[in-house]
Amino acid sequence: MAFEGLTERLQNAISKLRKKGKITESDVKEVMREIRLALLEADVNFKVVKDFVKTVRTRAVGSEVLESLTPAQQIVSIVNEELIKVMGDEATPLNKSPKIPTIIMMVGLQGAGKTTTAGKLALKLKNEENARPLMIAADVYRPAAVDQLKVVGESIDVPVFEMGTDVDPVEIVRRGLALGREKKNDYIIIDTAGRLQIDEKLMDELKNIKELAQPNEILLTIDAMTGQNAVEVAQGFNDQLDVTGVVLTKLDGDTRGGAALSVRTVTGKPIKFIGEGEKSTDLDVFYPDRMASRILG
Ligand code: GDP
Repeated sequence: MAFEGLTERLQNAISKLRKKGKITESDVKEVMREIRLALLEADVNFKVVKDFVKTVRTRAVGSEVLESLTPAQQIVSIVNEELIKVMGDEATPLNKSPKIPTIIMMVGLQGAGKTTTAGKLALKLKNEENARPLMIAADVYRPAAVDQLKVVGESIDVPVFEMGTDVDPVEIVRRGLALGREKKNDYIIIDTAGRLQIDEKLMDELKNIKELAQPNEILLTIDAMTGQNAVEVAQGFNDQLDVTGVVLTKLDGDTRGGAALSVRTVTGKPIKFIGEGEKSTDLDVFYPDRMASRILG
């Protein structure tokens, strides 16, 4: 299960304090050392860990905590609050265009879950807003990506614009946008190509699509299972494309959780959705407070 190791280690660290009743500054120091190790082991970015530990420690050695009759409980609250803060405080809604269509561009490495997430998002908009999305298949490099999006589209009854795999993706997007505007689709979701790693050609193509489509939202899909690497990827895409939000996928797997805690601080961009399964309905809005509760167990 996701966060299993992190949850267990945080709980262990804090349960030692519970046995003590009143605590001293050196008890705080000891528990912070364990929390620091727990976070590092969960693949949380080094700098994020450092700042997090410093903030919690400063708050925890305050007289209110040390003199409290329930110091362990107070420290749990502080950790909880700081976890929420590090993940962005509040849920961040999807950016929408004041007039239709809202254009959403999906970007990310191959295998991160872009195509799947495009379908999940389309279904969510359909179910929750009665929206009429159109999806554009602009991933012409990955074998079968176009077909995959078509299959997804059929299963959720959302139209897919495609021109096969022999046409320039920018041209596909141009035509897809024109069709969406003509048909008055309220959302247009562009599925773009990924690579196994970030490369210049991929970025140039994505920049060209961005330039053309002027999307309201550029959602970077990252695979939570890839740990530290996920955060580097996020940084790379953000530097080049100035993304507007992140979708963290595969949180149903046994991810250690580092990406969830690092992405916001490292990129400054909010996690907007989380993917928790392979089905079209497995997409949820990201709530930092719920995630913090889940991490603390
Ligand atoms: P793309 O190359 O970025 O378009 O990635 P795909 O959408 O093809 O997804 C790659 C694989 O990850 C597929 O097998 C998906 O079913 C799977 N996948 C995507 N999102 C999730 C998720 O949230 N949880 C799980 N368990 N699998 C996912």
